[in-house]
Amino acid sequence: GMNYRHAYHAGNFADCFKHALLADLVDAFARKPTPYFVLDTHAGVGRYDLEDDAARRTGEADAGIRRLLASQPAPLRRYLDLVRSLGLYPGSPTLIRALMRPAGANLAGERHGRCHTVMPGAGPASTPCDAEPDKGVDGGPSAAMTTGADRRARPPKSAPMLMRPADRLACCELHPEDVIPLRRLFHHDPQVEVHFRSGWDALKALLPPREKRGLVFIDPPFESQDEFAVVTEGLKRGHSRFSHGVFAAWYPIKQRAAVRGFHANLKMTGIRDIIAIELYLRAPTNAERLNGCGLLVINPPYRFAEQGQAIADAVLRGLGQDESGAGVDVIRIADE
Ligand code: SAM
Repeated sequence: GMNYRHAYHAGNFADCFKHALLADLVDAFARKPTPYFVLDTHAGVGRYDLEDDAARRTGEADAGIRRLLASQPAPLRRYLDLVRSLGLYPGSPTLIRALMRPAGANLAGERHGRCHTVMPGAGPASTPCDAEPDKGVDGGPSAAMTTGADRRARPPKSAPMLMRPADRLACCELHPEDVIPLRRLFHHDPQVEVHFRSGWDALKALLPPREKRGLVFIDPPFESQDEFAVVTEGLKRGHSRFSHGVFAAWYPIKQRAAVRGFHANLKMTGIRDIIAIELYLRAPTNAERLNGCGLLVINPPYRFAEQGQAIADAVLRGLGQDESGAGVDVIRIADE
């Protein structure tokens, strides 16, 4: 069923871990001028008010983002600065969007990526909302909506300038109530598409991206017993269509056995260059508790293992977690 509502968990330790690492992954794409694509397969509502009833009922953010904001460890600067500047707690779509670049002037020597010619200052990013198609939630999951990201500015009559196309985000959300605020959030944004469809289908339908480089972020609710198998299948499907893409999948750690099985099955897919970064709040013995969580990354960017370790260490320290068995692991699941 679709019982999971992320509003109860926003800003908890798992969110801090996944979002701090996600920010680092997205930033890695900005090292090159060519545009990139991000697919957020399980997007949620986009951003969260930590003062609302759902968040206050669980108080999970008190032991999560509120502690990190108070302690401000250095490796989390980028993430914490974004959280602070965005006001409401940013879910993955808001965080990714904040890191994306608008269309930019073509740099000398840039030869990859498709550039189009526009008037200076009249790129898609600066003319956001003329003739936007209706984005109401009126179709079913099959009525995927596409925004103006595909439209191109008209060629100018004079003073042409080569522009790099803007970075692009596609978000999928299958909960009929959660997709409404998500759509509203990006209604006027030509760089973001919101799809009312299953993220698992999107791994087929939206890959490979025309940009040829990008990140696929997979953050399912883990409501059902077989979710690890579903993630493995999804990664296989996505990777077969976009083998150079970076894939990052979050997973819960209750007991070690399920996680070991997940890693073993991934290794058996034959996909190369896979690492996992895991954060343990405590030894994973009680199967009823979320004792930790991990982020699995295929094709990690240069130096991500080291940076990811530093980020995860900083999250753990910032949370003030001192139960026995607390720690961070970086695991190489498959070699390059
Ligand atoms: N990624 C979000 C973030 O970091 O802010 C949080 C996502 S939350 C853990 C999982 C979301 O997936 C929920 O909003 C749920 O409604 C949605 N969902 C469940 N099944 C889905 C599916 N098959 N496709 C897309 N979204 C789905």
